[in-house]
Amino acid sequence: MANILVVGSINMDLVVRVPHSPVPGETVLGGDFETFPGGKGANQAVAAARMGGNVTMVGRVGKDDFGDSLIQILVEDKIKTTHVIKDSKAPTGIAMIAVADDGENLIVVASGANHQVSVEDINNTRSLMRETDLLLLQLECPLTVVSAAIDLAVAYDIPVVLNPAPAQPLPQSLLSNVDYLTPNEHELALLAGEKDLDQAIQTLLSWGVRNLVVTLGANGARVINGEGINQHLPAHEITAVDTTAAGDAFNGALAVALAEGKPLLDSVRYGMAAGALAATKRGAQPSLPTREAVESLMKIQGGGHSG
Ligand code: ADP
Repeated sequence: MANILVVGSINMDLVVRVPHSPVPGETVLGGDFETFPGGKGANQAVAAARMGGNVTMVGRVGKDDFGDSLIQILVEDKIKTTHVIKDSKAPTGIAMIAVADDGENLIVVASGANHQVSVEDINNTRSLMRETDLLLLQLECPLTVVSAAIDLAVAYDIPVVLNPAPAQPLPQSLLSNVDYLTPNEHELALLAGEKDLDQAIQTLLSWGVRNLVVTLGANGARVINGEGINQHLPAHEITAVDTTAAGDAFNGALAVALAEGKPLLDSVRYGMAAGALAATKRGAQPSLPTREAVESLMKIQGGGHSG
C-alpha cells in the first residue's frame, strides 16, 4: 500500500444558497444553512485515501466542535490523524460561502488553525518519513511550513507533489525541490509571471521543476518534463455538474499512482479520471471517487476521449 503524507488545510465550509450575491450593505435572505468538510489538504487526503492510499494527515484544527467533527470525518475515510493537532488558541479554519442562483459565489476564508501549523509540526513527522512513499502539499498553510516539509522530504529522498493552490508566487529555491508541480492554467501563469502557456512551462522547467502537470479542466492536462515527455492528454468525456474539488481529486489520485511506482503519464491518467468523476457530482468531499470508479472509467474511456 502506498504511504502518503499530506500536509495541508482542514476547513469547515459554511454554505448558504442565496437568490443573488449581496452588494455591500445589503442583507439577502438565503436558504438553509449547511456545513461541508473542506480545505484543499483534507480534500486531497480524502481523495488519496479513496484511491487506496494509506494516508497520514498533518495539520491543525481548533479545540471546537468543527475541529472534532472534521477529525472524525477524516477517520471515517481511514486517514491517520495522529499528526492533526488541536490548536489551543486558534479556531478551526472555515470558509463562508454564499452560492447564488446565478452561479456567482461569494467566499470568505478564515484560515484559523491552518495558519498555526508550524515547522515543529513538520519536524514531528520525522518518525514517519522512513515509511513515507510520497509527500503531497498545497498552499493553504504557511509557506515556511510548506518549505520545511519539502526540505524534510528531500533529506529522506521522498518524492514531492506540490499543488500550488491557491495561486501565489513561489521562490525558485522551493520550486527546484518539487518533483511534480500541478498548477491549473491560472496558477501556472501567476507562478511564471507569464500568460502564454508554452512560455510559462519553459520558465518553470528552467527554474528546476522536474515534472510539470498543468491541469486544463475540460481540456485535460499537459505533461512536460526534462526527460522528453511533452504531451497533451485529452479529458474524459463526462457531464460536468460541479467542478469543485476536481483539482483535489486529481492530485490525490495522481499522488497514489505515483507512490505505487506507476509511470508519470499513467499516473496523470488516474488523476484525470478522478478529476472527471469528481466533476460529475455536487460538493467537494462527497464527490471524490473510489479507486473502483476511477479504474472503471479508465477501462471504458482509456486515457481520455479521442475527440
Ligand atoms: P482545478 O480545480 O485545480 O482548476 P481542473 O479543473 O483543471 O483543476 O481539474 C483537474 C482535472 O480534472 C483536469 O485535468 C481534468 O482531467 C479533470 N476535469 C476537470 N473538469 C473536467 C470536465 N469538465 N470534464 C472532464 N474532465 C474534467
